[in-house]
Amino acid sequence: MNNLTGMKRILVTGGAGFIGSHLCKRLVEEGNDVICLDNFFTGSKRNIENLLDYHNFELIRHDVTEPILLEVDQIYNLACPASPVHYQYNPVKTIKTSVMGAINMLGMAKRVKARILQASTSEVYGNPAVHPQPEEYWGNVNPIGIRSCYDEGKRVAETLFFDYHRQNGVDIKVIRIFNTYGPNMNANDGRVVSNFIVQALKGDDITIYGDGTQTRSFCYVDDLVEGMIRMMNSRDGFTGPVNLGNPGEFTMLELAEKVIKLTGSKSKIVYKELPADDPTQRKPVIDLAKKELEWEPTIPLDKGLERTIEYFRSVV
Ligand code: NAD
Ligand code: UDP
Repeated sequence: MNNLTGMKRILVTGGAGFIGSHLCKRLVEEGNDVICLDNFFTGSKRNIENLLDYHNFELIRHDVTEPILLEVDQIYNLACPASPVHYQYNPVKTIKTSVMGAINMLGMAKRVKARILQASTSEVYGNPAVHPQPEEYWGNVNPIGIRSCYDEGKRVAETLFFDYHRQNGVDIKVIRIFNTYGPNMNANDGRVVSNFIVQALKGDDITIYGDGTQTRSFCYVDDLVEGMIRMMNSRDGFTGPVNLGNPGEFTMLELAEKVIKLTGSKSKIVYKELPADDPTQRKPVIDLAKKELEWEPTIPLDKGLERTIEYFRSVV
């Protein structure tokens, strides 16, 4: 804690990415001293350029696979590419980022006695055989497929968090984030919401992979950031893992139709091959977040899509 002001010194790894940039903004505006650490693999300075003039914001170009020591009170560990296109681009680097990044950040948390939150993912449930997914479900993950660098990397990171907690008493918090969307998503990172909106705005074909019956649950980024901050500041001893996501479940066909309607686009829907290991369904049980964090999403998909479409209109 900064003794003069009572505000916290907070590190956000992956802070120049989509979610990280929203989190940094919120933490800076609340008056905390925020350090954003990023290697700019998928993030960009543009996402955080509105923060550069704040005296309580610092930017460090650094790769989490390398050790670093910073005196902070809290660490949000978000560094890791999140879209399948980006995390499959260099899969060995992806798994190194999750595993070595977790070891380096946990080592720092142990040394400086910081509280540390891991941005884990619904991907730890793999292609779930249990639906919807509660935190107790151990998942159904292919260990050798093209998504495994991400899924298994995140699973090992969770293991490391719990072992540092049990073995070294590190103060951990683990959240499992379900599909999140909003402004600052990278227009060409291949995720479904950004793809569909960009395609619709350009009048290009909307690409549905497979037959479009697979489902996802989409959470607007402001809701997620609220949940992350509540989890970081939750009671001592509550480690999670806790699901953070919006339980509203939609097929990819429904999403495509919504985007076409909200953009007023003349784009046509086309069907492409389904990527390997693409989960057929996904929806969070959020009872634990409701109970422990008094959190639940407030922004329905249509409203969140409208805001996201407005953002992409300004960048496409
Ligand atoms: P993103 O790709 O926009 O952000 C990731 C950030 O991490 C980028 O700024 C990138 O440059 C940085 N980064 C990547 N490798 C790094 C490294 N080795 N060292 C330092 N920085 C590095 O993705 P996002 O959607 O903002 O996701 C943020 C976190 O949330 C990720 O850990 C992701 O796994 C997790 N998550 C996101 C979602 C989602 O739907 N967006 C869902 C589940 C989990
Ligand atoms: N998807 C799609 N068209 C696209 C991009 C993705 O139909 O242009 C599908 C993808 O196959 C998956 C779902 O949308 O079933 C969500 O994909 P995304 O990459 O956004 O996230 P994840 O699969 O990690 O949930």
